[in-house]
Amino acid sequence: MPPANETNLSSNYARPTWAEIDTDALASNFQFVRKLVGDDVQIMCIVKADAYGHGAVVCARRLEREGAAWFGVACPEEAFELRAAGIVKPILSLGGFWRGQEAALLSQRVTPVIYRLDMAESFNRAARAIGMVADVHVEIDTGINRSGVRFEDAREFAEKLRAFKHLRVDGLMTHCASADDPTQNDFTREQIKLYDQSLNIFRAHDHTPTYKDLANSPATFAHPNARGNLVRPGGILYGLWRDILQPQDVVPKLHPVMSVRSRIALLKTIHKGESAGYGRTFVAERDTKIATLPIGYHDGIPRALSNRGRVIIRGRFAPIIGRVSMDLTLIDVTDVFDVALDDVVTFIGADGDLQITAETLAHEADTISYEITCGIGTRVPRKSLESEV
Ligand SMILES: *Cc1c(COP(=O)(O)O)cnc(C)c1O
Repeated sequence: MPPANETNLSSNYARPTWAEIDTDALASNFQFVRKLVGDDVQIMCIVKADAYGHGAVVCARRLEREGAAWFGVACPEEAFELRAAGIVKPILSLGGFWRGQEAALLSQRVTPVIYRLDMAESFNRAARAIGMVADVHVEIDTGINRSGVRFEDAREFAEKLRAFKHLRVDGLMTHCASADDPTQNDFTREQIKLYDQSLNIFRAHDHTPTYKDLANSPATFAHPNARGNLVRPGGILYGLWRDILQPQDVVPKLHPVMSVRSRIALLKTIHKGESAGYGRTFVAERDTKIATLPIGYHDGIPRALSNRGRVIIRGRFAPIIGRVSMDLTLIDVTDVFDVALDDVVTFIGADGDLQITAETLAHEADTISYEITCGIGTRVPRKSLESEV
């Protein structure tokens, strides 16, 4: 039973804008990946960035129950939040750590990715101080040229790591730059090849990594030989796939996890020729019934949707009109029969037979679905829906 926390108590009296987190959909997506990769491959659920905006604690709790082997976060702070919430499975800090975080990582059993020798040195020192041998994962940069040890430096890195007697290389990983793009499959194959060579180099230097991982969501689907013995999906767990998987991989068995809704706070009719919103970018071509919604770009509705996007209300689409502003958005409800104050308005999610996905919204705003769900603001309470507790 979730504790009746402050959010629950106050939610009846809150601004009527919220995000629903369907943890059953999350579980179903996880089980789908589980079946896809088979029993020989474990799953590290990526819950960085507050689980892509869905709420890391709620999602990790459910995924832990479903059988997640690992959790992946961006930085130690995110790992500590999960530990404080009672998550016990191994956690990998994909971005490593920053000066001074070594002891906390060790005491909270958080494994860092390392990609610089000075990280190895300071982590080794912290482990020695408490008399333990600490696990690390090493990231090899096979072409994304972002984080990781450059492939050409892998041999020297593997060699020098041997000096650190209080470290053990528990995992060797790399990250694909364009696994979502079939026109770049040759590049991805080259990354996989360089990774395999790195693994041989590390083994030749007496490192025996337990985990071999290369695959984010698109690689998990499109490049089965990138699965190693651990995959690192993020987006697909949240049902975000229409802008990262290719049509041939299309997997309608993935369900969106987040819905974003608000309610009509005010209805008014403006006359033909009047404008609405900042900049007067919408001008009524007929007498127009306008609904004001208490949700804006701080809540994560991209300003790029001004005069472009649409919402679902009473089972039909209604257009966003005028500029999306920080706290308010306007829609045209002239054609919505029986529209009333307090009506629920769906920005992301399903209502009746209609659906707006984060991918659709992202497309209209010229971005990707990940940025949309990550961008749902902190002012928007997450309400988790779950069939069983
Ligand atoms: C974010 C991230 C992932 C997950 O990527 P998705 O596309 O969401 O599956 C995996 N590995 C690393 C290193 C990442 O930074």
